[in-house]
Amino acid sequence: MHVLVTGGAGFIGSNFVHYLLEQTDHSITTVDALTYAGSTNNISGVLDHDRHEFVEGDIRDSNLIDDLLIDVDAVVNFAAESHVDRSIDDAEPFVSTNVEGTRVLLDGALDHDIEKFVQISTDEVYGTIESGSFSEEDSLTPRNPYSATKASADLLALSYHTTHGLPVVVTRSSNNYGPRQHREKLIPKFLTRAAAGDQLPVYGDGSNVREWLYVEDNCRAVETVLGEGESGEVYNIGSGDELTNLEVTEKILSVAGGDTDQIEFVEDRPGHDQRYSLNTAKIRSLGWEPNWSFEEGLRATAKHYL
Ligand code: NAD
Repeated sequence: MHVLVTGGAGFIGSNFVHYLLEQTDHSITTVDALTYAGSTNNISGVLDHDRHEFVEGDIRDSNLIDDLLIDVDAVVNFAAESHVDRSIDDAEPFVSTNVEGTRVLLDGALDHDIEKFVQISTDEVYGTIESGSFSEEDSLTPRNPYSATKASADLLALSYHTTHGLPVVVTRSSNNYGPRQHREKLIPKFLTRAAAGDQLPVYGDGSNVREWLYVEDNCRAVETVLGEGESGEVYNIGSGDELTNLEVTEKILSVAGGDTDQIEFVEDRPGHDQRYSLNTAKIRSLGWEPNWSFEEGLRATAKHYL
């Protein structure tokens, strides 16, 4: 299979490119605009791989996408503006890349004989939940500009299945962590700051709960969906490892050798979702389950950053 991976120089995309090259015989074209969040350093070891080609380019460029889709069997769309705090400062690039960029890819896929279009979405599209877990049938209530654009792209992709019969599958995963994540994100930022003896700015009282998924487990789930996911279906991907931000911070301090004095509570993010939690029975019915505990994943991540 020839797979077009968009956003493959970013965090999850680059891990996915490595995963596919190591675990399958697929050939891969990676397209990435190399924004501040993307770097060829993330795929430097596979730039010359005989089953891999890297193209610097923008998913909103319909001519480029049209060219790239010739001979492609499947698209996995990771490319996105991905940082919630940045979307609060300026939503424009989020709407442009996450929604319009996805539209360009979907229209391109319609014009070519694409066997599978995997749209990478997020648990944030469901909004916040007090107790229990979100299943794929729950309504979408995104509460920040980032998650609103991801929900838009997710629904647009599903509409191309219903309206045009495009073989679309959507994955909604929980928070990922692991090697090659940008240092603006919580775990890499706190690991490096903890080791350097710097303060760790925790939003609000640190009680917000996230379900942490090691990136390799997500890559294996996306590859499962790429092969076996049913067109028109959505698959939640989560580990079940729910932790408050304060608990994550304390675990990071113990792994990186810091001190709890370094924790600094700062003004909460506006509209900060209290808790995300996913019901993952559907992806588990395809035979997938997470392999990494949070402690193991955090140690592996710390090794990468420190
Ligand atoms: P990232 O910010 O690390 O990577 C995004 C990549 O997309 C970057 O390499 C960037 O250069 C590229 N990109 C941005 N705009 C582009 C454009 N217009 N054209 C081509 N490339 C462009 O993000 P990530 O954390 O790896 O997330 C990847 C995907 O997974 C995103 O769609 C995100 O919404 C989704 N997701 C992420 C998480 C998480 O915890 N990181 C959780 C659930 C879902």
